[in-house]
Amino acid sequence: MKEQLEALQQEALAKINDVNEMKNLQDIRVAYLGKKGSITKVLKGMGKLSPEERPVIGEVANNVRNAITEAVEEKAAELEEIALNKQLEEETIDVTLPGRKVNVGGPHLLTSIVEEIEDLFIGMGYEVKEGPEVETDYYNFEALNLPKDHPARDMQDSFYITNELLLRTHTSPVQARTMEAYKGQKPFKMICPGKVYRRDSDDATHSHQFTQIEGLLVDKNVRMSDLKGTLDKFAKHMFGEDREIRLRPSFFPFTEPSVEMDISCKVCNGEGCSICKGTGWIEILGGGMVHPKVLEMGGYDPKVYSGFAFGMGPERIAMLKYGVSDIRSFYTNDIRFLKQYHHA
Ligand SMILES: [Zn+2]
Repeated sequence: MKEQLEALQQEALAKINDVNEMKNLQDIRVAYLGKKGSITKVLKGMGKLSPEERPVIGEVANNVRNAITEAVEEKAAELEEIALNKQLEEETIDVTLPGRKVNVGGPHLLTSIVEEIEDLFIGMGYEVKEGPEVETDYYNFEALNLPKDHPARDMQDSFYITNELLLRTHTSPVQARTMEAYKGQKPFKMICPGKVYRRDSDDATHSHQFTQIEGLLVDKNVRMSDLKGTLDKFAKHMFGEDREIRLRPSFFPFTEPSVEMDISCKVCNGEGCSICKGTGWIEILGGGMVHPKVLEMGGYDPKVYSGFAFGMGPERIAMLKYGVSDIRSFYTNDIRFLKQYHHA
C-alpha cells in the first residue's frame, strides 16, 4: 500500500509540474485528493491492514496528501503570478505615445472685432454702454428725432412686437438712454455695441439681425474736426496707418450735418479695383454732429452742449479687414470658417 501511495504521489507531482492552466490544476487536485480521488480510494483499503501497519500507512498517506497539496498551492501561486504579469504587460501605458488632441475653442471673429473696437475707444476714455434689445418706440425713434410720421422710419423696416414695442433697429436708443441718465449735466463719451434687427431679406451683404457699434460724445465746443480726428484714428487702428479717410455729406435724422466715411481701398491703394468698385474708396461708417433736437430730447441744452455721433457695423469692418465675402458666415457657425480666425 505504501508503494501504491508513493507511486500516486510521483504521478500527481509530475502532472502538477506540467500543468499550465489553473482549471487543469484544480482538476488534478480533485482527481487525487477529492472524495472520489485515487488517494482516497487507496485509503479505503486501510481497514484490511493490521493494527501495527495502520499508523505507518496513515503517516505515509498524510505525507503524500501534504506533498500533493503543497505542490498544488505552489503551482497555483506560480500560475497566478504568470497571469498577473501577463495582464500588467498588456495594460502597460506607453507614455511616449502622442496624447489625444484636446479641441480648444476661441472667440468668434465678430466678438474679436467688437472687442478690438471697444479696446480702442476705452483707450480714448469712452465708456461701454448696453441697453435692451426689445425697445420702446420712444427710445428707438422719437427720442432720436424720428416722430411717428417721419418718412425716415421707412429706412428701417422694423420688427414690431406691439404698437409701442419693437426689436431695436439700431443701438442709438442706448445713446438716448445715456443722455437721459446724465440729466443734461455732464459731458461724456460712450460707445454701445450690440445686436440690432431689421426686416431685411438675408443675402451676402444683408442680415435681419446684425451687430452695431455706435459712439456718442457730448461736451462743450465739440466740432466736426473732433469727429474727423476720432474716425481717422479708428480707421488707421483697424486697417493700417497708411489708410486715408474722406467724409462725404449724407443724411441721418439724428445728426446735422451728417457724413459718411470712406477709407482708401487697401487692395488697390486708391487706384480702383473690383473691391472698391473702381472708386478707390470703401464706405465704412456714418456719423455727424448730434442734431440739436436729439440733444434737447436727451436733456442737454443745445446752446451750451454739442456733440458728435457715429455708427458702424462690426460685420462690415470684419468683412473688409479679413476678406469675408458673405455676412451669413458670421451666423451659420461653420466650424471651418470660425477656425480660421482663432488667434488663441
Ligand atoms: Zn480698390
